[in-house]
Amino acid sequence: MANLKLTPGVITGNALKDLFAYCKEADCALPAVNVIGSSSANAALAAAKEARSPVIIQLSHTGSQFYAGKTLDNSQQQASIAGAIAGALHVRTLAKVYGVPAVLHTDHCAKKLLPWVDGVISAGEEYFARHGEPLFSSHMLDLSEQSLDENLDISSRYLTRIAKMNMTLEIELGVTGGEEDGVDNSGIGHDKLYTSPEDVLRAYDLLSPIGSFTVAASFGNTHGVYAPGNVKLKPTILRDSQQTIQAARKTGPEPVNFVFHGGSGSTKAEISEAVSYGVVKMNIDTDTQWAFTQPIKKFMDDKGAYLLSQLGNPEGPDKPNKKYIDPRGWLAIGEKGLTGRLVEAFKDLGSFGRFDF
Ligand SMILES: [Zn+2]
Repeated sequence: MANLKLTPGVITGNALKDLFAYCKEADCALPAVNVIGSSSANAALAAAKEARSPVIIQLSHTGSQFYAGKTLDNSQQQASIAGAIAGALHVRTLAKVYGVPAVLHTDHCAKKLLPWVDGVISAGEEYFARHGEPLFSSHMLDLSEQSLDENLDISSRYLTRIAKMNMTLEIELGVTGGEEDGVDNSGIGHDKLYTSPEDVLRAYDLLSPIGSFTVAASFGNTHGVYAPGNVKLKPTILRDSQQTIQAARKTGPEPVNFVFHGGSGSTKAEISEAVSYGVVKMNIDTDTQWAFTQPIKKFMDDKGAYLLSQLGNPEGPDKPNKKYIDPRGWLAIGEKGLTGRLVEAFKDLGSFGRFDF
C-alpha cells in the first residue's frame, strides 16, 4: 500500500487516529521511546529522520522529573509537571527543524501519581486555548493495580476530559511484569500477567463512545530484559480480544489499537506476531538505555588515561585533555548509540521507510 503522507511536527487529534489506522492496515507499529532530556529526545528525532517514520516520544513520571532537574522539590509533582511540559515544548520546537513527525505521550501514571497528569492536562488545556491543539498527543493512565471497575471508571473520566482536545488515552489492562521506573511487578501472580478478552470488551464498550483510546494489554510481556523462559509470551491474547469484540459488536477487523509494553528483549518473531494482531505502538526503554550507556562505557575505558587529569596523558605530561573531558564528546556517542538502536526498532516493527514527509 502507498506510504502515508505526514507533515513534520507533533501529530495530534484526527491525524493521530489516521496514523494508528494506517499502522494497522500496513501491519506496522511505531516505537515509543522514553526520553529524559535533550540528548535522548534529539537522538530519537534523529532516528525518525533516518527511518523515514514518525516516532513516539514519551516522558515517564521520573523521566519528567529528571528533565526538570533532580534537585527540584517534587512533593506536589511540580517538577514532574514542569519537566513534562519542558520536554514537550523541546520536541515541538525541534521536530520541525529535524523535519520529522512525532507523537508526544506521557508514560505510566498510577493512581497515586494522578496529580502529575492532572497538572500536565491543565497545561495542555491552556495550550489548546491558545493554539487550537493539545500540547501532548496522548497520555497514559496505569490503573492496573485497581479493580477493573475502578480502572475503567477513572479512565472514562480522564478520557471525557481530554477528548475535548481530541486527545487519545492509553489504558492498561492486566499488569506488565518486571520492574520499571520504580514500579516493581516482578513478584506478581501469573494470572494477572494475562489480560482476558472479556476485560478488553468491557473497556471497548465503555470508552469507545467517549473518544480515542489505546490498550496496553498484558500477554506475558515484562519491563526490562530478563532471562527467557520465566513468563511465556502469548500474543494470541491480542488476536482473541480483537475477534471477541469484532464478533460481539459487529465491528470491522481489529477494532482495538494495542500497545506493547516491555518491548526490550523481545525477539523479532514475537514483535511481528504482536504487530499482526493490531499493536500500533511498542514501548522501548531498557534497550535504548543500554544503547546509550554502552558506547559511553567503551569511550571511558578506551580514553581512561586521558580522563585522569586536565593536563597530562600518554602523549606527554603537558598535553591538555580538554577535548576528552568535554561532555559533549561522550554524550554525542551515547546519542548515536540510542539512534542506532531505535532505527533497528523501526525495522523490527515494519515502520522503516513506510511514510512520506
Ligand atoms: Zn510500560
